[in-house]
Amino acid sequence: MSSTELHNVSVCSDIGGELHRLIADLYPICRSITGEGLRETLRVLGQYVPLDLREVPTGTQVFDWTVPKEWNIRDAYVKNSRGERVIDFRSSNLHVVNYSAPVRRKMRLAELKMHLFTLPDRPDWIPYRTSYYNETWGFCISHRQLEGLPDDEYEVVIDSTLQPGSLSYGEYFLSGELPDEIIISTHCCHPSMCNDNLSGIAIATFLAKHLSMRPRRYSYRFLFIPGTIGAITWLALNEEKISRIRHGLVLTGLGDSGKLHYKKSRQASADIDLAAAHVLHHGAYQHQLLDFSPYGYDERQFCSPGINLAVGRLSRSPHGTFPEYHTSADDLAFVHPENLAESFDACLQILALLERNGTFLNLNPKCEPQLGKRGLYTMIGGARDAGTRELAMLWVLNLSDGSHSLLDIAERSKLSFELVRAAAENLQEQGLLRECLEFVRPMPSESVERTES
Ligand code: ZN
Repeated sequence: MSSTELHNVSVCSDIGGELHRLIADLYPICRSITGEGLRETLRVLGQYVPLDLREVPTGTQVFDWTVPKEWNIRDAYVKNSRGERVIDFRSSNLHVVNYSAPVRRKMRLAELKMHLFTLPDRPDWIPYRTSYYNETWGFCISHRQLEGLPDDEYEVVIDSTLQPGSLSYGEYFLSGELPDEIIISTHCCHPSMCNDNLSGIAIATFLAKHLSMRPRRYSYRFLFIPGTIGAITWLALNEEKISRIRHGLVLTGLGDSGKLHYKKSRQASADIDLAAAHVLHHGAYQHQLLDFSPYGYDERQFCSPGINLAVGRLSRSPHGTFPEYHTSADDLAFVHPENLAESFDACLQILALLERNGTFLNLNPKCEPQLGKRGLYTMIGGARDAGTRELAMLWVLNLSDGSHSLLDIAERSKLSFELVRAAAENLQEQGLLRECLEFVRPMPSESVERTES
C-alpha cells in the first residue's frame, strides 16, 4: 500500500525540538477566543502549512450560540500612587482576566481586591481566568504579590476593546484518494500557556505538514479553532461536511511528562477508539484509556448527540489533574521535546493504522485453503504451536467475511495490527483474499451501536 510511509517520522530527526521551538514562538502572544492574538497565531501557523483563515462576524447565530464581540487588548496595568506599575500586562498576559472589558479608574485596595484573582495554595503562580460571556474585568496575580500590596489609591487601566468584529479560525484541508475525512481539531484560544493549547497546536501543525508530503487514502481536515465557540461555529456552518467525517482526534495537552491518555468517543468502540487503544497498547506507550464523558475539550461538541462523530481525544495528563493546569506554571519548562515527540509519534501511528485498515473477503471460505502448498505455512508438522505469522493468517482467513476489518481481527486475535496486515497482504498475493472496495464503515448514524455479526 502506498501509504506505508505515513508513520515514518524520520522526515525530521529532531521533531521534539521543532515542536518546542514553535511553542516558544507562539508563547508570548495574547490569544483569546477572538481578536488579533488569535489571528497572529494563525498567521504564524500559515508559515508551516497554507491555512485558510476564516472570519465569522460577531452576531452570527451558530446553533444555540451567538458569535461574540471581538476582544482586543493593547495594554493593562495597576499603578500605585507613586506611578509605579505594580501589575503589568506587559510582563505576563495572564495578569489580565481574558476578555476583560475596558476600565480606567482610580480606586482603593479594598475595591481593587474584588477584581483580583490568586492561587493561595500556589503563592508564586499566576492563575488563568476568563470572562467570555459576562462583561466584567479583573487581574490575576500571584498570591505573594497580593499579600505585598499596601492600601493605596491605585490607577487601574485595561486598555481593551470589546466591539463587533469577527471570530477567526484556521482550516487546512488535504484531499486524499477518498472523500472520507479524518478531522484533527485543536483549540487555540489560550494565551501564554504551553501544554494546554500550544502543544496541541504545534503537533497538529506538524502532522498537517507531515501528511501533506505523503500519499493519503483519507482526506484530512485540520481545524485550529477557539475552544467551544469555535467548534460550535464550525459545525453549525459546515453541517453538509459532517457526513464525510469518518474519524477524528482532538489534540491538546501533549507536552507534559505524564503518560498518554486517550479519551474514547461517545460511540465508545468506533474505529478511532479501537485504533488508538491498539496503537497505545501494542506500541508500548505508557498510557491509560478514558471513557467518554460530556466534559473536557471540543470532543464535547463533536460528540454531542446530534453530531455524534467518531472523535476521540489524545492528551498526556488530563486537564485539571496537574497543578500547573491553567496557571503561569504551564510554561516552556513544563513541556518537553521528548514528550512532544512521543505524542507526535503516537498520533502518526494511529493515523497510519486507520490508513492501512481495510476489510477483506476470503475467496476460499469452505474449509481452510491449503496454505502449505502455497508456501504460506510451515511444512514441518508437530510443533506445539503455530507461529504467530501462521496464526495471523488463520485469523484473517476466518474473519474475512466482509464484515470484519483488519483492526477488528487484530483486536479479536490480540495480535498486532502490523502482523495481521502483513498476513492479509500475503494471502492477497496468493489470490486467497480480496479487499472489499466498500472498506469504509457505514455512517455512525446508521450504526451507532456496532454489532458484530
Ligand atoms: Zn484550557
